[in-house]
Amino acid sequence: MALEFEQGPIRPPSEARSLLIRVTRNCPWNRCEFCPVYKGAKFSRRTVEEIKADIDTVKEMVDLLKRTAWQSGFGGTIDRRLVEAVLQDESHSESFRSVALWLYYGGESAFLQDANSLVMKTLNLVEVVSYLKETFPGLKRITSYARSSTLARKSVEELRQLKDAGLNRIHVGLESGSDAVLSFVKKGVTAAQQIEGGRRVVDAGIELSEYVMPGLGGRRLSRDHALETARVLNAIDPDFIRIRSLALPAGTGLREKWERGDFERPTDEEMVRELRLFIEHLDGINTYLASDHILNLLEELEGRLPEDKPYLLEVIDRYLDLPEDERLLFQLGRRLGLFRTLSDREEPGLRARAIQLREKVVAQFGGDLEQAIRTLAERYI
Ligand code: SF4
Repeated sequence: MALEFEQGPIRPPSEARSLLIRVTRNCPWNRCEFCPVYKGAKFSRRTVEEIKADIDTVKEMVDLLKRTAWQSGFGGTIDRRLVEAVLQDESHSESFRSVALWLYYGGESAFLQDANSLVMKTLNLVEVVSYLKETFPGLKRITSYARSSTLARKSVEELRQLKDAGLNRIHVGLESGSDAVLSFVKKGVTAAQQIEGGRRVVDAGIELSEYVMPGLGGRRLSRDHALETARVLNAIDPDFIRIRSLALPAGTGLREKWERGDFERPTDEEMVRELRLFIEHLDGINTYLASDHILNLLEELEGRLPEDKPYLLEVIDRYLDLPEDERLLFQLGRRLGLFRTLSDREEPGLRARAIQLREKVVAQFGGDLEQAIRTLAERYI
């Protein structure tokens, strides 16, 4: 029988090269109106024994892959040829393939799934993280998602125990610091809890990555969303702020609100203006801001605060100062996967291709370029 262990459906984009270890299943809250990920799936806890058995299976896989690498004459190294052979061999499980890729990328980081691993009892989670670290001493980074409301219930001392065991980064879906927005999208957390949870992580010495969702307040709450989110993040001072722009996947409450006319969805351009207001008000923090999600229009929006703030605002202004047809061309090229940065628009080959495709797309969508751009963006949801 193929070696196999349990893995959940998602991880943050920055954990694409991490080993995925599932410590709980699905989301204990599962009510956020913008989130499709665990809808219809029931939350459950896994026992420490089950999780340790999975870690043992990973170890077996690692040993097998290393043996194969020796026997095949690769000198024990998991190189591209070996990984390609594993990926093409359908007798291997999905989890076995993911372990081969993890080793290929260096085997240095692990991510604990699913949506809120910190909901586990601290002592149990400490035991899991310690076991993972003992089994794979080469791990340099162990990370997890957590909800702010859960973090706000852990003491700094408990979080320190987790840090000492090896948990060195926590990703939080903050989304917004506006109580009006948080309540409108049923995030189940207040701005005060976001600050409390975040501060405890920072005080415990664990790296903190906070996700912000431009557009989540719609047109009505856009200003409050930008200003309050900046205020909350200024109070937390996280290590990372990561941007993940609003999308409205089918089956979510927010999409239904939009379809009923109860939510005014902002355009790409409105989201960029909102982002400008947000960044402008980030103050007194030492944080790396990244725009590392495919749904974001401006991927090059990346830098350290406070010193790169002028650069970040300049990138946004460069986009906003473009004539309207150029902004639309950039949006289209971005959504077609042709452009990554604003200067890609000036590269003759890419530009010609974008213009050519614009004619086709406009014809296909009956002349409505904005609708076409939105539909193309939704392919990434
Ligand atoms: S807490 Fe996270 S995973 Fe759970 S419903 Fe909200 S956004 Fe989705």
